[in-house]
Amino acid sequence: MSRVLVWLRSDLRLADNPLFHFPTPPESLLCVFVLDDTWLDSLPGLDAPRIGPARLQFLWKNLIELRGELLKRGSDLLVRIGNPVEAIAELVEAHAIDAVRVRADAGWEESQASVTLAERIGGQLSMAPHDSGMLLDEASLPMAVEDIPASFSAFRRKVERRWEVPAAAPAPVTLPGWPANAPRGFPSLGKVCARAAAWAPDARGGFAFSGGEAAARARLDHYLWESGAVARYKQTRNGLVGANFSTRLSPWLAHGCLSARQVHDAVRAWEASHGANESSYWVIFELLWRDYFHWAARQEGASLYGERQLPAPSPGFRAWCEGCTGVPFVDAAMRELSATGWLSNRARQNVASFLVNELDGDWRLGAAWFEHCLLDYDVASNWGNWRYVAGVGRDTRDRRFNVLKQAAHYDPAGDYVAHWQPELAELPPGQARHQPWRVSPSRFAAPLAPLSLFADPD
Ligand SMILES: Cc1cc2nc3c(=O)[nH]c(=O)nc-3n(C[C@H](O)[C@H](O)[C@H](O)COP(=O)(O)OP(=O)(O)OC[C@H]3O[C@@H](n4cnc5c(N)ncnc54)[C@H](O)[C@@H]3O)c2cc1C
Repeated sequence: MSRVLVWLRSDLRLADNPLFHFPTPPESLLCVFVLDDTWLDSLPGLDAPRIGPARLQFLWKNLIELRGELLKRGSDLLVRIGNPVEAIAELVEAHAIDAVRVRADAGWEESQASVTLAERIGGQLSMAPHDSGMLLDEASLPMAVEDIPASFSAFRRKVERRWEVPAAAPAPVTLPGWPANAPRGFPSLGKVCARAAAWAPDARGGFAFSGGEAAARARLDHYLWESGAVARYKQTRNGLVGANFSTRLSPWLAHGCLSARQVHDAVRAWEASHGANESSYWVIFELLWRDYFHWAARQEGASLYGERQLPAPSPGFRAWCEGCTGVPFVDAAMRELSATGWLSNRARQNVASFLVNELDGDWRLGAAWFEHCLLDYDVASNWGNWRYVAGVGRDTRDRRFNVLKQAAHYDPAGDYVAHWQPELAELPPGQARHQPWRVSPSRFAAPLAPLSLFADPD
């Protein structure tokens, strides 16, 4: 009989979570989440912590829901704030734990934390990171992680040649009991961060992300079965306003309230009943992008982030963060991001390209700002997509977007920009709403660099 500690990170669910599936049930089970306290400190230059109020609040909601599910099954959850390795090591020693289970996360810091913990207390316990949450495990990849191709297309072609996604496993019905004398529960969010407790999404986002596994499954059911929106995903996925132009599953996937295999199984079930089409295939295709970035991040290690030291932010970067560049399409998206913690893929691509190519901004600052703002921040998807758009690292093609052309194509009436900048609604629908305007130099320490892409707005 053993005493097991499950160290939860970005895998806050019971269904399809290998950490909760035991060949032989242990004597006791301690489930722990540790919020790294350095994530609450402002990053130098960025004046913002790694985890912003929106994601911190969503994380707390997910933890509260997970605790409820664990309690129903005879277990519990302990949440600590501090250094994760120190906190886990202390619990291992205090409660004579002999096995630690943890997800094999894609992030370098997370994988180093597992290594450091194993080195520190490894002699006395077994610790094997488990693959979880993705479509494929390392064992089912058609290549070694060192050989993940530089391009997504090459990866996809190889994977789809012998494509078999294992079925998602159901949640356990009961769980082993809590160790005697082990602490339980967690601090209130208000004590951890008053701003996060008070944060409320802007209703103009048109969608509320509730926390936990049940909410994630409800959204999946709604998108597939109730609204039937999945049938048109390929045509609508570049949308900008509304709840159903894309799945909006990313926050739950990123926190691990839902696994990619659960989405995969649900889409296949929908296809069995309605018939497969290009759109249902495309949802799986996007999940494969997520797998690709996960495995690429595992291959890249610390180099995923580029040079570690962030450069000093320029006035242009600050204008970009605040949604005050003078380019309505970019500003609308950056305001939506700050106000809701979420942004469509089309808008993410455009604002990233704009920062890197038109404002000559550093992609790492952009990625760090997204990390602060996004509800669905995922280390591999965020840093991987930023590298991809900036054309650095593994795939160095030039991916510059002409933001004005994109705006004209994807927001022809200017409804999106007027939605987030009500002052533009006074202009007639159409291209007038996309005209760049001159930013007042007094608003920032120095005037913005001229926008080479655009004609002089005067
Ligand atoms: C600069 C930039 C940063 C990004 N940062 C993140 C991030 O931190 N976390 C994150 O989950 N996604 C990130 N993305 C990818 C993508 O924008 C979001 O996953 C998507 O917009 C989420 O909306 P959805 O759930 O409705 O996606 P859908 O279009 O419905 O797609 C279904 C799922 O597929 C996955 N997916 C779709 N596109 C991508 C992609 N390009 N890369 C990886 N996975 C994808 C997501 O898990 C998504 O939930 C980023 C993209 C860019 C361009």
